[in-house]
Amino acid sequence: MNDWHKYLALPPEIAAYISTLEQSLPHIYGHIEGIASQNQVRVLNAFQELKVSEDDFNSTTGYGYHDAGREKTENLYALLFGGEKALVRPQLVSGTHAISCCLFGLLRPGDRVLSLSGPPYDTLHQVIGYKGKGDTGSLQDYQIDFTWEDVINPVKDRDAGPIKAILEKYQDDTSLKMAYIQRSRGYSLERPSLTVKDLEFLFQIVEEALPGRIIFVDNCYGEFVEEKEPLQVGAHLIAGSLIKNPGGGLAPSGGYVVGRGDLVDLAAGRVTAPGLGASLGPTLGTSRSLLQGLFLAPHFVGEALKSVVFAAALFSELGFAISPKSYEERGDIVQAILLKSPERVEKFCRAIQANSPVDSHVTPVPGHVPGYERKVIMAAGTFVQGSSLELSADAPLAQPYAVYLQGGLVYAHSRAAIAAAAAAVLR
Ligand SMILES: *Cc1c(COP(=O)(O)O)cnc(C)c1O
Repeated sequence: MNDWHKYLALPPEIAAYISTLEQSLPHIYGHIEGIASQNQVRVLNAFQELKVSEDDFNSTTGYGYHDAGREKTENLYALLFGGEKALVRPQLVSGTHAISCCLFGLLRPGDRVLSLSGPPYDTLHQVIGYKGKGDTGSLQDYQIDFTWEDVINPVKDRDAGPIKAILEKYQDDTSLKMAYIQRSRGYSLERPSLTVKDLEFLFQIVEEALPGRIIFVDNCYGEFVEEKEPLQVGAHLIAGSLIKNPGGGLAPSGGYVVGRGDLVDLAAGRVTAPGLGASLGPTLGTSRSLLQGLFLAPHFVGEALKSVVFAAALFSELGFAISPKSYEERGDIVQAILLKSPERVEKFCRAIQANSPVDSHVTPVPGHVPGYERKVIMAAGTFVQGSSLELSADAPLAQPYAVYLQGGLVYAHSRAAIAAAAAAVLR
């Protein structure tokens, strides 16, 4: 029954570690499957409540007026994520695009945004105008200030004092319109992901110290990891990518924005044009994939979580520093593994690529990727280009040489690929 690794010709010490792990991991997997089961029923109930039907798979072209499938999809997102309204569009090409539409849609010249989770994810740097490169249409070019503090450690310690002290500095700042929080760790070894409980603790302090400000969450990689979502504990607006968790591996493209109705309307005015907003937007044949992907998302997020837990346990067993640990609470589907050398990072990524269903014969090399300042190496032998709910690994080719592994639609596949990556790293 447990002979799967014989097909991989693994070195005996790795096969032995895996046999040991497979005794200890099932109780962590049981916890993950419990959450997936709850979320699966929640999604099923929403599909029933909104009477999803075959007609919703029909498509529109051109302006896309009155697209029933689009409206159904958006109502499902609003219901499942706890918002008044949602915008779910294949025209949003990425999470960065969705987040950018929220920032440009909601903010006006002279406004300020305060990130509480440190600097934002790499691809947002050019959106906000960090390390500005002249006139690019960034927030900075519109005199919108994006500044940051880092309250993640006190949030994790449930220590309100230092957070209040930081927020007090901004209390009288009438230009401050938005508190911005990134749930996932991104490409960072220093910060862990925030769980929904962490977010709830933080939002209560923000509401008290900075009343009237918009609480925005970059929800990328967090969807369906827990039973609740950020809007259900006090966020006002969230955004994310459909080629990550909520697309369930099937969405061919897209992003989402969910939250308070007036805020979603403002973001929609930026996605299309002011005055057009959410009423335009053809689905171009994507509705079936978006709906089926959403239905499958809880299960695939569970597979992805089991995959990264396996990686954490195996690489920790092999002596590498990892974050989070296999048994730690998770707020996203990302696993950081500190490989400490560029050679090991390349070997890891090449092995993941070589053990992927698509482009297994291709050798990933470090290069420049739009939106990232540092050279990155990416392993993504995926059916949807760049999809990171599918098994994928990325690493900035820079100190401290950590690799970020995420996704895995099929645990049995991820486990084999991760075992092969471990063998490659040790070789
Ligand atoms: C992936 C990601 C984004 C957006 O990235 P895209 O590649 O544009 O979808 C933003 N924030 C975080 C934390 C992410 O993980």
